[in-house]
This record gives sequence, structure tokens and C-alpha cells, in this order.
Amino acid sequence: MVIAALHDLIDPAAARRIVLKIGSSLLVDGAGCPRAEWLESIAGEIADFRAAGREVVVVSSGAIALGAARLGLERGGRGSLADAQAAASVGQIALASLWSEKLAARGLTAAQLLLTLDDLEDRRRYLNASSTLARLLESGAVPVVNENDSVATQEIRFGDNDRLAARVAQAVRADAVLLLSDVDGLFDRNPREAGARLVPVVDGIDDAVRAMADGGSASGLGSGGMTSKLQAAEIAERAGIALAIVNGTHRAPIGRALEGGVGTVFLPRRRDGARKAWLGGRLRDRGALVVDVGCAAALAQGGSLLAAGITAVEGAFERGDLVAIRDPAGAAIARGLAEYGAAECHALKGLRSADHARVLGYAPRAAVVHRDHMVML
Ligand code: GLU
Repeated sequence: MVIAALHDLIDPAAARRIVLKIGSSLLVDGAGCPRAEWLESIAGEIADFRAAGREVVVVSSGAIALGAARLGLERGGRGSLADAQAAASVGQIALASLWSEKLAARGLTAAQLLLTLDDLEDRRRYLNASSTLARLLESGAVPVVNENDSVATQEIRFGDNDRLAARVAQAVRADAVLLLSDVDGLFDRNPREAGARLVPVVDGIDDAVRAMADGGSASGLGSGGMTSKLQAAEIAERAGIALAIVNGTHRAPIGRALEGGVGTVFLPRRRDGARKAWLGGRLRDRGALVVDVGCAAALAQGGSLLAAGITAVEGAFERGDLVAIRDPAGAAIARGLAEYGAAECHALKGLRSADHARVLGYAPRAAVVHRDHMVML
């Protein structure tokens, strides 16, 4: 069945495997205490899903907010990286026990998985995480995932659980992601402005949609905001996964949002193969290759990237690293794994394949980025 509206996600056949992302402000109140009753109601909804033969992976925020209150740290523990790491370390243990207790009360077994960005960016580790999640679901457990904030440093962290949820959804080949937030969904302008309207369905994210998101998290507790939700939606869209933003602040919010149809659903678009979807959803490029107009057109036709079309090389990447491919106007048009390192790309740029061996002394590959290792954006 094709998902065309939020309401369609009620159907277990349309969305059997679901990733549920829960923001900090839903789990933790302003004083840094867990919102136990709310958590009980969501555990009830998860149990109902399971009883209907559906599988749920929870991506839960709240570690930093919970830990900051316990340690008495200012700014909700987000004043510095060191504070966030310490807060997460204290808060995660509390968060895990809350989930384990509330799910157990519904007869469900919670499983904890703490991931860093690299666990999902590195192909081998991604496959490991993916098979662990699959095995847990098969065994009937409810995986509860969070970023491993206490060891993640600035350069190597997701920083928000929206994109983490989209990457996890990819890893478990989920049908849908539900981002439970403290807003109703995506509005066509800042929701505080008069006349702002909720956008019920987005069929393809473009610049007009991006312009609707305005940064900042409304609650101040999480780090998400609409921008990271849109980035998550782009990852999901490319992987052929529906993503919805719904308001989680009510009791039993999932049923309420899906039945009432209140929220924003981003329709799945492309069903890239698993490997290409993983590639397209990767978050860190090591460098970039700028190409000329002719080359950009050839890539759009499904061709590989040849050195002759490269006009500039940026960054210090090595063979096998992920690079962005940009058109002459600077827009990223594709992303792929480089067959050559940056120094070799510099030497080869603008040259036809026949000249490569003369310049490098070797020429093992004709393409700089092969089309099998590239996704168009
Ligand atoms: N991982 C963070 C936490 O558990 C939350 C990140 C976010 O706000 O999205 O507190």
C-alpha cells in the first residue's frame, strides 16, 4: 500500500516497522524530572503496536536534560560539550531504567543501543548495528536508541536525534519514522506568525519547503528544531521511508495524531538500493569535487564522474572517502566514494582518461567516482 497521507500510517500493512523518535521536552519536565505518566501512555501505545504485529524502535532523547538536573548544571547541560557529556552519562542510566520499567509494565523487553555518528557512517559498523537491531526486533525486544553523547565529541556527533532516527530507520529498513515533537508539524512560516498554516503533506523537499523551517527548538530542551527535522526527512525520503512530524505533548499522542490526521508527513520518494540509500544519507563529506556543466549533465544521465569534467578539488580526502560533487554554481548535486585521493584528483582534473597513466604513472580506474558508488541528490 502506498503512503499518501498521515492517516495511512495507521494501517499496519503500510507501516509495519516504525521508528519512534521522542524529544527531550516530552520526556522531561522543566524541572528536569521525568514525565512518568506520559511515558506510561506511550509505552501503552508501543504495546498496542506490538500486539498488532508491528515492530517499534524507539530513539529517545532526554539523557542530557535528565542528567543536567541531577548534576545541577546550567543551561540544561548544554552550556559546554563537557557539561553535555557529563549530563548524558548521568542521565542515560536514568533514561534506560525508565524505559525498561515502563515497557516491562506492558510486558515488553527494552534493549539499549548507544550509537555515535561513526557507527552509522562507517559501512562495516553500520552493518553491525543494523544486524543487532534486526536480531532484537526478531526476538521481540523494543530497542531504545540514543546517541552515545558521553563519548561523542563535537566533530563526531549527530548532535540531534532527528537525523539519528532517520539513519536508524535506514539501518533497520523501517517503513516509517514518527518524530514526536512539541509542535504540530511543519508550518508554511514561523508558527508564531499570524496566518501560519500546517503543511499536511510534503511530496518532495525543495528550497520552498526548506525556507519554511526556521531553526531553533521551541522548548529549549532538545537541540533539534525544524531544520534538523527536515534533514532527517531528506534522509528518509531518499531511502524510501515515510517520515512524519507530529505533536507528542498529548496523552497517547500517536493514536491521536494518526487518527486526527494532524501533523506533517513527508512522502517516501526514491527506493534507492540499501547501499545507495546509506551512501546518500551519510552526513560527513571529506571533500568536494567541482564539475563543469557538461559533466553535471552527464552525471544526471547516470554516468560516472570522469576527471575531464572536474574543475576544482576541495579538502584532503583519500581514496574511498565520501566526497560531495558540486556544479559550477556550488550546489551539491551528488555524493559518492572517490576512487582517487585529493592529490591525485588535483593532478588529474581536466584530463581525459587516456592521459591519466602518463600523469600518475598508473591508472587503475577510468572514473574518479564510479556511478555504482554515487547517489544523485
Ligand atoms: N541525545 C540527546 C539526549 O539524549 C538529545 C539530542 C536531541 O536533542 O535531539 O539528551
